[in-house]
Amino acid sequence: MANPFEELQALSRPRKGPPCGMASVSLEGDAQQALLDGLNDPAITAKAISAFLANRGITVTFWTIARHRRGECACAR
Ligand SMILES: [Zn+2]
Repeated sequence: MANPFEELQALSRPRKGPPCGMASVSLEGDAQQALLDGLNDPAITAKAISAFLANRGITVTFWTIARHRRGECACAR
């Protein structure tokens, strides 16, 4: 690694791997729209989204959702 700053940039990139749990979530109609709106709304917490999905029989942990929102998962590539 020639340049320490380049090393930092490389370490900041999302890790390679399969898309996170959010990639496979798909809801029907209004619920899907609410999910997308919620992900884009900072007032909606990751825990709320996790509970929203749990109500529909889908388990995604809130930290997975939080990471997904920050673009730190493989989906961001
Ligand atoms: Zn993701």
